[in-house]
Amino acid sequence: APSVIWFRRDLRLRDLPTLLSAAERGDDALALFVLDPRLLRPSGAARLAFISGCLRALDEDLGGRLLVVTGDPTTVVPEVAARIGADSVHLSADHGPYGSARDRAVGAALSDAGVELIATGSPYAVAPGRLHSSSGGGYRVFTAYRRAWYEHGWRAPAATDASTLNWLSPPSPSAPLPAPEIHADLPAPGEAAARARWTAFRAGFADSDAEGYATARDRPDQDATSRLSAYLKFGCLHPRTLLHDLRDDSGDDAATFRSELAWRDFYADVLHHRPDTARRNYDARFDALAHDSGPDADRDFHAWCTGRTGYPIVDAGMRQLLAEGWMHNRVRMITASFLTKDLHLPWWRGARHFMTHLVDGDLASNQHGWQWTAGSGTDAAPYFRVFNPVTQGRRFDPDGDYVRRWVPELRGVSGGQVHLPGRSVPGYPEPIVDHAVERRAALDRYETIKGR
Ligand code: FAD
Repeated sequence: APSVIWFRRDLRLRDLPTLLSAAERGDDALALFVLDPRLLRPSGAARLAFISGCLRALDEDLGGRLLVVTGDPTTVVPEVAARIGADSVHLSADHGPYGSARDRAVGAALSDAGVELIATGSPYAVAPGRLHSSSGGGYRVFTAYRRAWYEHGWRAPAATDASTLNWLSPPSPSAPLPAPEIHADLPAPGEAAARARWTAFRAGFADSDAEGYATARDRPDQDATSRLSAYLKFGCLHPRTLLHDLRDDSGDDAATFRSELAWRDFYADVLHHRPDTARRNYDARFDALAHDSGPDADRDFHAWCTGRTGYPIVDAGMRQLLAEGWMHNRVRMITASFLTKDLHLPWWRGARHFMTHLVDGDLASNQHGWQWTAGSGTDAAPYFRVFNPVTQGRRFDPDGDYVRRWVPELRGVSGGQVHLPGRSVPGYPEPIVDHAVERRAALDRYETIKGR
């Protein structure tokens, strides 16, 4: 009987273990993607447009044979399986709180109909829940996790070739893909574009003694990071492929890049063990931290979202987010610190805004990136280390080029001077808060919870 291959966060055909598991059952396979309204609703236009682009690319790679349906997977997946007489549905496992519950429900519905659900692989080099700390639970400290992660290692890429399967023509026309109006400048979608980006980025590792990834990755004014996050999010590339390509590279750039991929796996592992931390503080002491609310807080939040706080590096980052659906990692930390410690707003408010606009928006990396900055997460930056947006700007964007790229009002200010707030530049806001004052206020609030 034919198989259904249900694509989700694995929008590629190379190094895709589900193709192997389907091939074991026979040659005939139907490629399926489900537009699940519960997952699409919180996605902003940029992410939706990127997903649509990736699906279009996958459909092309499959010779126009991808079936796209809309609805609750618990009903539509069994319907599609029944329609083509499939006896198995193949997928890569999902480890998020919603995805894992959904897959259990789909598995139960399929099993009632006599169809097997077969999960092979995951979107991670080491699947969440695989590694155990000495106390038997999940890791709380990144460096300990990373050590275990290296020791465990990962499989070699799956040698998959889509042409070994006989892709069935969809039994019904596909649902239209979301086509939101977007203003963001997005990366080219799909597997081929992802591979091209990876090849181009890796080529830069060769001259790493100069300003390679290991040192330049903290510089938002340089195009020094891989920009693979959206591709990794939707599985246009698997991290195992990247780790395999780097297996003989012992340079600093490769080591740093591997370590960044370990962060991605770590946060997925943390969320797997503590699904409540998608919404709540990992460190429960922070439940007692006082936050601002009311009309003034709403006005500050709006200024932050729109890049009008009067702190140039913060505003540049928030505008880059809206313009590209992406923000440089260093600036994600600076803007998140500003929201939580200068504006005293709860991290989840900022996290929601990021999740709406980031093309790479990912529950595990985003919520835990926020909690790290807010001080409430695993391994968190100590709460008392409050980022100074002026010092951070001068250090990581020394000539001010990043700020001038995103904040046109400040283009007349030369060099690193551009980071100083309160320059009375026409059209650019005065600082909405005084960093020195708010830093002390943040530390005072922290004092009240610290001994708990
Ligand atoms: P590179 O430096 O080239 O890194 C390579 C890959 O490693 C990335 O694509 C990503 O998959 C992974 N990675 C790098 N840094 C981290 C990290 N700190 N945590 C987890 N994975 C990492 N990343 C997301 O993918 N989705 C998010 O929603 C997200 N939200 C964040 C929110 C905040 C407040 C912070 C501080 C960080 C967040 N990150 C998130 C992590 C990081 O900022 C992005 O992964 C990175 O900026 C993506 O750009 P890149 O691909 O060029 O990174």
